[in-house]
Amino acid sequence: MQPFNYVHADDEARAIAAGATRGAQFIAGGTNVVDLLRLEVIRPDSIVDITALPLRAVTVEGKAVKIGALVRNSDLAYHPVIVERFPVLSEALLAGASPQLRNMATVGGNMLQRTRCSYFRDGVSPCNKRAPGTGCAAREGYTRMHAILGISEHCIAAYPSDMTTALAALDAVVHTHGPNGTRAIPVTELHTLPGAHPEIETVLQPGELITHVELPVTAFAARSRYVKVRDRASFAFALASAAVALELRDATIRDARIALGGVATKPWRARDAERLLIGKAPSTAAFRDAADAALAGAAPSGDNAFKVDLAKRTLVRALQRAGAP
Ligand code: SF4
Repeated sequence: MQPFNYVHADDEARAIAAGATRGAQFIAGGTNVVDLLRLEVIRPDSIVDITALPLRAVTVEGKAVKIGALVRNSDLAYHPVIVERFPVLSEALLAGASPQLRNMATVGGNMLQRTRCSYFRDGVSPCNKRAPGTGCAAREGYTRMHAILGISEHCIAAYPSDMTTALAALDAVVHTHGPNGTRAIPVTELHTLPGAHPEIETVLQPGELITHVELPVTAFAARSRYVKVRDRASFAFALASAAVALELRDATIRDARIALGGVATKPWRARDAERLLIGKAPSTAAFRDAADAALAGAAPSGDNAFKVDLAKRTLVRALQRAGAP
């Protein structure tokens, strides 16, 4: 592992200043960053430890729930307000990683976790995300775990977070504090498509710290579900997942949210599919039409062609669960 300077930040101003220096990397739970340091996939000049910042509270404020960026994944998954009002988020958290990892991983870190593309993590293969301009080994390689939505010729890596997929379906907003002040970013706009620059993964600027996530309390959030399909039940990343939320009145869908995981290069909202459901009665036929719309733009690359059908079935299953009486 390459040597680095260690900075212990005990207030936001110090964290932001240290994080804005060239080659700096924030660390909180460390469940992803320490992995990548050991693999030498990342070689920061300094590590800015933000674990002492007071960002560990979950509070209800008016018509929103505010979740501190350092809240542990396990604490959030079992928080009574989340379990009762945002079940999709609790289910997604419990579907992610292992209990040990959930006890360490934080909300902010979970959102910013890096892809599990094996060529990115091996440290030697051509990879535009790790070493810009070197190419993409996955394009001619093994692509079973890779994305089919939002890809570019420069990168087809799947975004891995279950939690963020659920947050995308819940219209969550990410709040940040950086060298240029504070801002609020819809979670669906936090991550960028790979395009010609897969090394750029979010809209965050150097030193910009995620402080909390705001979850609006909505009618659809209470009727929300997460379904994840993976190679083994205990601990694996999604082959396909679906986070859905429905508002039903008089046996009719009044509002709908759909986000897909495991199949896209970023948390993927399926807005065309959502619109198709509005005004319909919840039925398998309507859910299948929505699933077809959600995957209409899929572009598989060899080994991952099975994901198109798998994602559709996963989405139908999630909608059936959310639409059940
Ligand atoms: Fe790198 Fe993306 Fe290609 Fe994987 S898919 S090798 S992360 S450029």
